[in-house]
Amino acid sequence: MQKLSCSHICSVLSADKDPMGQAIAQYYATGKAAKLRVFSSLFYEDEIPVATLFRTYKDMPLQEQEALRLCCGRVLDVGAGSGCHSLELINRGLEVVSIDISPLSVDVMCKRGLNAKVVNFFDHLFVDRFDTILMAMNGIGIVGKIENLTQLFLRLKQLLLPGGQVLLDSSDISYIFKDDDGNVDIDAVQGYYGEVDYRMQYRNFKGDEFYWLYIDFDTLSLHARNHGFLCEKVVDGSHYDYLARLTMI
Ligand code: SAH
Repeated sequence: MQKLSCSHICSVLSADKDPMGQAIAQYYATGKAAKLRVFSSLFYEDEIPVATLFRTYKDMPLQEQEALRLCCGRVLDVGAGSGCHSLELINRGLEVVSIDISPLSVDVMCKRGLNAKVVNFFDHLFVDRFDTILMAMNGIGIVGKIENLTQLFLRLKQLLLPGGQVLLDSSDISYIFKDDDGNVDIDAVQGYYGEVDYRMQYRNFKGDEFYWLYIDFDTLSLHARNHGFLCEKVVDGSHYDYLARLTMI
């Protein structure tokens, strides 16, 4: 089993190992960006259109719009990227703290007027309390692997105010493993099917490989309940994705 050492999970990125941060910084500075390339053993080479990281409310998928609508009180935006969700929330009059492990992205967020900090969500030195913790764009992905969910729930308990909520969206990616007859062919020995290895590249900046977790609603509910959280589905997205709301039982 992969050991969960703090140096592994609590670190922040250096600029030369931060392709997404480089892309965000360049797009913010010039209004243009090169290809943000994404590699994974599960998919063909793909690309994240950098402009989508700067999406405004009207261009967000339904589950993100719904998440923003449900945000209340003091909000923590986890893995906030360019700050697109935080900005919308600020405009709605909410108090938002935006954190990200990318100093380049945090710099852009500060320039956009946000209260942004270079913080790894798993870093216990970050102490604060929030009414809403927002993990958008499959933000729960930061746990990487199912075995790290315990750490996630522990941190959520530390960071939530009484009566607080977590809003997160994710996807059930089992459809990728369906054969022509619609049967799911998953080799369980290799672990949970939603643990996807990724590497990103922007121009010459190559990031380290990392795992990003996609979790189906039932598996999330089960783990949430085992850790003292109620997990409700708020809305289904258009492509095997959903928005969930977690509250402490
Ligand atoms: N929420 C943004 C960005 C999503 S990309 C959006 O929807 O557009 C995921 C972001 O999470 C990246 O900016 C990455 O740097 C950040 N991230 C990854 N692991 C993190 C961690 N452990 N703590 C905080 N941020 C993290």
